[in-house]
Amino acid sequence: MGKLVSALTALTVMCAASLGGAEDAVVRLSGDVLIRDDGGMVEVVIPLSAPVPWKVWLAGEPPRLVVEVGGVDLGELPEVDSQSIVTIVSERNGPKASQIIAYLREPLLVDTAEMITSEDGSAQLILSLAPATGAEFQEAAKPLDVTVEPPVKTRPVVGIDPGHGGRDPGADAAGQSEADLMLEFALKLRVDLEATGVFDVVLTREADVFVPLDARLSLARAADVDVFISLHADRLDIDTGQASGITVYTLATQAGAAADDRQSQRNGADDILKGVDLSGAGDQVARALMALQRQDTDPRAAALSATLVRAFEASGLTVNSRPERQGEFAVLKAADIPSALIELGFLSSKDDLERLTSEKWKSEAALAIRDGLLQWHQEDTLLGQALRK
Ligand SMILES: [Zn+2]
Repeated sequence: MGKLVSALTALTVMCAASLGGAEDAVVRLSGDVLIRDDGGMVEVVIPLSAPVPWKVWLAGEPPRLVVEVGGVDLGELPEVDSQSIVTIVSERNGPKASQIIAYLREPLLVDTAEMITSEDGSAQLILSLAPATGAEFQEAAKPLDVTVEPPVKTRPVVGIDPGHGGRDPGADAAGQSEADLMLEFALKLRVDLEATGVFDVVLTREADVFVPLDARLSLARAADVDVFISLHADRLDIDTGQASGITVYTLATQAGAAADDRQSQRNGADDILKGVDLSGAGDQVARALMALQRQDTDPRAAALSATLVRAFEASGLTVNSRPERQGEFAVLKAADIPSALIELGFLSSKDDLERLTSEKWKSEAALAIRDGLLQWHQEDTLLGQALRK
């Protein structure tokens, strides 16, 4: 039973690695909650339209399993036919916490629990429950009530978003895919950032998997990131004479960015240009709040972009002839998180391809981003404190 208890303890921690519940989109059950029950192990499968942050715990009196799944719109759950579970009900515990509560007929412990994301962006939370004695259940159900609180954040969190992945490899050149290059670069950058002792780092993907654009933002929000950096190296098929060197994009604020927009439309994947749906259409209050939030975030993002470009230049790295630009990139649309998209180079440029595949260049570029982020964070903190006074 030692294994079961330790597996359970691990589950009491917020599962930050799972993707976050978008405030922007409603996540729903995409089918019935399945319970597979053969009198021994019990498997519970919760199908969702998108991944969300989740946690699982046991509670006593009456014995029950509580599954919290972000802000999922659960609706009413159908009756279950199970030897081990009497009934399952849904409960809304605030806007961001929906619960599925399974009342247990007999003591069960959580053996494993994982959220699996499918290629189409949907997800399944799969729980495996094992029979236990009453004493074991009580022990497992007791301490959990005090450990449900989210972990305390000690450092600012940098969200790093390696572009593309899975069925969307992004640009390619000489057998190198943009998705692979960006993932490798992101993993390197994470090591450099964590080594500062100043930042914690969260990646939107850590493998060659497809992650929808809005899920990348949801993840950033669920991990409470303070700054968000998306990494790309696209192709420009039309040679404008500008398609080499590092470019840093921030979100286009107004129509004045139309020219930049045309530029960003050539960046390989079309879907990066699709806007994230704000909260329900016609919700004017939400939009007004977003606009207010933007007044705070936009100048911070502009400072981030300028500081990053200065850091690249200070490191002697080749930047684009117009290194700071604006674009309508979906991954930059979190109104509350200063965000930048770095085109580390263009795979359509021979010089850039050489740089992007050079270990020395990659190390220098990662260190330059680290230095830029350190500088920006320091100034941003000072400015924030001055403004609050
Ligand atoms: Zn890209």
